[in-house]
Amino acid sequence: MAEIVNKSVYMKKFDKFLKTGKYRKTPERYKVLDIVLSFNKHFSIDDIKTKLNDENYYLSVATIYNTLKLFLAAEIIKTLDFEGVNTQYVVIGVTSNVHLICTSCNKIKDVRDTNFITFMNTRKYTAFKTGHYSLFVYGICSTCARKQNKTKNLKNKNKNQ
Ligand SMILES: [Zn+2]
Repeated sequence: MAEIVNKSVYMKKFDKFLKTGKYRKTPERYKVLDIVLSFNKHFSIDDIKTKLNDENYYLSVATIYNTLKLFLAAEIIKTLDFEGVNTQYVVIGVTSNVHLICTSCNKIKDVRDTNFITFMNTRKYTAFKTGHYSLFVYGICSTCARKQNKTKNLKNKNKNQ
């Protein structure tokens, strides 16, 4: 479910990060952050580029990549790495933290599972302070399940003929 992002919280966090690390506050970095915060699901560099281009704003993939590296270091976003899929990112604390991955088409669906969050809030690990977390659930999406059923039905039909 989409949530309203409190952009100013992330902007402030990024301000602080840039200041502490003595990085330059460039308008490009803030533009990319604005785009990133407008996603309410996972996103790739291509998604950012497309959105920027829609607004007639042009940045190279390298610039976007380097900016994302700063967001990662600032713990604003995190990476979701899946085999066969371009690197996907999500905003920490906003985007749902349960990711359903279809092993057939590699599609990722982000869901918010309040029971999981409640459970994680009760977890305490020895000598460890939990920051953020993700749960990856692997399976088959409904589209692929339907396709597989169709092929199965066809095969059965052929068998019966
Ligand atoms: Zn699928």
